[in-house]
Amino acid sequence: MYTIDDFRVLNNLENIVERRPSMKCMKCGKDSYKDTTTEAIELGFGVLVIRNIPCYKCDECDEIFYTGDVVKKIEQLTEAVKKLMQELTVIDYAKVA
Ligand SMILES: [Zn+2]
Repeated sequence: MYTIDDFRVLNNLENIVERRPSMKCMKCGKDSYKDTTTEAIELGFGVLVIRNIPCYKCDECDEIFYTGDVVKKIEQLTEAVKKLMQELTVIDYAKVA
């Protein structure tokens, strides 16, 4: 059972990036700098938008990439939201009133 507590992991994302001070661009190998981005994830029945995701952005080619930990957290969040939305959409006032 998922609760709103699952969204607390969002607060930990910044800390994960702090532990990895330097990253090279996976595309061109140049230095990248820390940034935040917005990701839209298709859920089938709607779209989940996560804002302020910590990422690395390449100075040279503008490629954006995430650390493995951040990718994992995004996947966990997506799963949590899918489950939550399924719970919420079950409630139909016309049928229960
Ligand atoms: Zn690059």
